[in-house]
Amino acid sequence: RTVYVNGDYLPEGEAKVSVFDRGFLMADGVYEVTSVLGGRLIDFDGHAARLDRSLTELGMTMPMAAEDLRGIHRELVARNGVEDGMVYLQITRGAPADRDFAYPPQDTPQTVVLFTQNKPGLADSPAARTGIRVISIDDRRWGRRDIKTVQLLYPSMGKMMAKAAGADDAWMVEDGHVTEGTSNNAYIVAGGTIVTRDLGDHILSGITRAAVLRFAREAQMKVEERAFTIAEAQAADEAFITSASTFVMPVVAIDGAPIGDGTPGPVARRLREIYFEESRKAAS
Ligand code: PMP
Repeated sequence: RTVYVNGDYLPEGEAKVSVFDRGFLMADGVYEVTSVLGGRLIDFDGHAARLDRSLTELGMTMPMAAEDLRGIHRELVARNGVEDGMVYLQITRGAPADRDFAYPPQDTPQTVVLFTQNKPGLADSPAARTGIRVISIDDRRWGRRDIKTVQLLYPSMGKMMAKAAGADDAWMVEDGHVTEGTSNNAYIVAGGTIVTRDLGDHILSGITRAAVLRFAREAQMKVEERAFTIAEAQAADEAFITSASTFVMPVVAIDGAPIGDGTPGPVARRLREIYFEESRKAAS
């Protein structure tokens, strides 16, 4: 597989990053994951805009224009023959000479890394037909979840807690209300209304979330952006998650309690279809 590191396209075994890289030492970096369907990028503009915002919030800047980043994405997709899969992009504050908590000088070169992952059949994963099962866990992450940083240890722990409980993922709960999934936004459908957490620094503003809410509103579905509890979710007609890698994925159980009749609901299935149709049309 060919990867991209700081201007070079290299075989993955030859790509190197310094041991002093602040991404490695301090999780001082941000990332984006863009999915690829039919060899084309899904929602790239949204991912580039969020990347810019994450960097800005951390006092960094875009290493190049969004169009040039798109070009690197496309080049890697082509070189690696990716039909269905994803492109991972990571930008860190680079590798100053010494480890120090204070940021290094602004002219320290950033580390820019991109690679692809092939996932044949990504768009019709068996999980979408059966739905996934989630557990609820305490949200113990830091308070700036709106920035897409590479500090993903707590979400990793959450995934492991879910696995240990025989589930697929975890929804995180803070002050009695669901924030989001370990790597996705969380939704319920009750009385025909789609409910998902309002934006703020407590959750990541999902690119798939923005697209799905827009399509839902265009299809005259009712949407409410507000906090909800696990009890409310368990009593809902449907539940689902969204992310760039799972698209719209039905949730059929929360903490062992079946949602609705315990199978993927009609709203989640319809939104999944609309999302594929619309995002493929706009793919780049
Ligand atoms: N929330 C969190 C915590 C995430 O890690 C992700 C996936 N990056 C999302 C939500 C979904 O965002 P997107 O739709 O942009 O993939």
